[in-house]
Amino acid sequence: MRSHKLLMIPGPIEFDPAVLAALGAPTTSHMDADFIEAFGESLEMMRQVFLAPHGQPFILAGSGTLAMDAVAANMVEAGDNVLLINTGFFSERFGEILRRYGADLYQLQSPIGGRPSLEEIETALRKRETKLLVITQVDTSTGVLTDVRSVAELAHHYGALIVVDGVCSVGAEELRMEEWGIDVALTASQKAIGVPPGLALWVVSPQAIERFKQRKSPVMNYYSDWNNWLPVMLSHEERKPSYFCTPAVNLVWALHVSLKQILTEGMEARFQRHTVLSKTFKAAIKAWELDQVPLKDEFAAHTLTAVRYPAGVQGSALLAEVAKRDIVISGGLHPQIKTQYFRVGHMGTTTIGDVMATISAIEQGLIACGYPIQPGVGLAAAQAAQL
Ligand SMILES: *Cc1c(COP(=O)(O)O)cnc(C)c1O
Repeated sequence: MRSHKLLMIPGPIEFDPAVLAALGAPTTSHMDADFIEAFGESLEMMRQVFLAPHGQPFILAGSGTLAMDAVAANMVEAGDNVLLINTGFFSERFGEILRRYGADLYQLQSPIGGRPSLEEIETALRKRETKLLVITQVDTSTGVLTDVRSVAELAHHYGALIVVDGVCSVGAEELRMEEWGIDVALTASQKAIGVPPGLALWVVSPQAIERFKQRKSPVMNYYSDWNNWLPVMLSHEERKPSYFCTPAVNLVWALHVSLKQILTEGMEARFQRHTVLSKTFKAAIKAWELDQVPLKDEFAAHTLTAVRYPAGVQGSALLAEVAKRDIVISGGLHPQIKTQYFRVGHMGTTTIGDVMATISAIEQGLIACGYPIQPGVGLAAAQAAQL
């Protein structure tokens, strides 16, 4: 018997044993030549994962929210016009952070499970000169995937830089930072990157670094100020020691292992695998005749699935039934519909076997909760989806 339940939530995810071994190894000095090498290589590998050959990567101790906070602190000056595409709880949070640093924020919203159309975004850009457009690629509270590529095209047409919250997407959803013209993409270690919580990661385009250097006001956040961090990142790439704050040494060692694994799989194969995992899981949802939170299929993320409970099924009871079968899934997060849906993460190390086991556990859980389905319908549909 395995000593832990299979973790199928949208982060943290299941971690590879080699990654966990690096985390548990004796801590080296942050000035050790081997550590500086691992840090430098990790920065180089981040460029490949983000598909940003000319980008400037950053690795800091912190969670995804720290990455959002740091990007806002460095990219926004008081009074800047910022357009936020709000697709859920995490976009909402980004809005609060941007306002904290003085952004003059304009938000585009749509009903829960939807996303603003390209026409609405273009109208907003046309109305107001916009410095920064901020978008969440996958909002983990709704499972809504945005069309980052098309939105980036619009942003550039209207002279705005574009920031992407990729915490639930980088390393799994298709994101081609340089080809699509993304200026900042940020993530955290515990989701598709496959490292336990604790690292904030982001990559900045040369244009955005240029914009940062032209700031007229100081960065109103000491820890996150890129003036403190840029020299650290640059010297590690030159394999020279440099200190601002003690890095999360073991987490960086773990990141080094995980990024190597990601690149061994290859980004194209990784995007493809996540499409298959998602298609397989969603086929079961359809076979059970359950609704997803995203209002249209093309709005649905590949890294997680957000599913509405059927009438008569109590959310906490279903989650408990699934947990009895040694699989952990997640409840709702969006404050307006929190008790009405559950979420299943299928990213990073997740295998097709994990997805099938999860479908089986949910199917049994639904039946145990009195939902009238034939045993095996979800599994059969999921199998057919892989053919
Ligand atoms: C998880 C998540 C965050 C927040 O990350 P933390 O590590 O919890 O701070 C932000 N944005 C998105 C899209 C996320 O999925």
